[in-house]
Amino acid sequence: MRRKIIAGNWKMNKTPSEAVALINELKPLVASNDADVVFCVPAISLIPAIEAVKGTNIEIGAQNMYFEESGAYTGEIAPNMLTEVGVKYVIIGHSERREYFNETDETVNKKVLKAFEHGLTPIICCGESLQQREQGVTIDFVRQQIKIAFLNVSKEDAKKAVIAYEPIWAIGTGKVATSQQAEEVCKAIRQCIAEIYDNEVAEAIRIQYGGSVTAASANELFSQPNIDGGLVGGASLKADFGKIVNYK
Ligand code: PEP
Repeated sequence: MRRKIIAGNWKMNKTPSEAVALINELKPLVASNDADVVFCVPAISLIPAIEAVKGTNIEIGAQNMYFEESGAYTGEIAPNMLTEVGVKYVIIGHSERREYFNETDETVNKKVLKAFEHGLTPIICCGESLQQREQGVTIDFVRQQIKIAFLNVSKEDAKKAVIAYEPIWAIGTGKVATSQQAEEVCKAIRQCIAEIYDNEVAEAIRIQYGGSVTAASANELFSQPNIDGGLVGGASLKADFGKIVNYK
């Protein structure tokens, strides 16, 4: 039985003091024995956030990192900078990073390998555009993203990975995928993992749905057999996130 994982992607929201205030507000609301809870906060708030969640069930994640160890990469953050302060998760290849910051399947793969090398759990994002869905190529496209993301990733590491299936047309639009649409793609992703590795890895790996999840849609989405929780944007900045974590 896979444990659910529900992560908030705060994106570029909240100053450090606002982040601590929001964490303090959400702390009592997101207590859960059934799910892992992760807040992916802006880089500058990682340290105060880690302090603020001490003694709770909440883990802190980053929203990005670079695939080199150190050096002349102005503006980037190295994996050991994240681990030293206690970051456990890192979102890799969010569609906003692919769209605005030139991330590709290849850089996603490099970052995934580097995250595992440092003991970080990557939350690997994939998902189709509206045009791709309308053209009927969703599953082919997502399978290709997954195959490249996992190139050279060992079986032991792959089991620990988290995949976030996020249809781009559903992100920040209020247009949530139906539970059937989300389940169909998450099932295909699990099948793809079984083909790359084997059933053991496919059964272990956790696959989230992301895209306009709210307290109203969480229960039906997260009750699907191949959906192991969610990556939540807008609703993770509100008290609603407590209801999403305790969706049952
Ligand atoms: C996201 O950006 O990962 C996301 C799912 O955003 P939203 O929930 O706001 O659609």
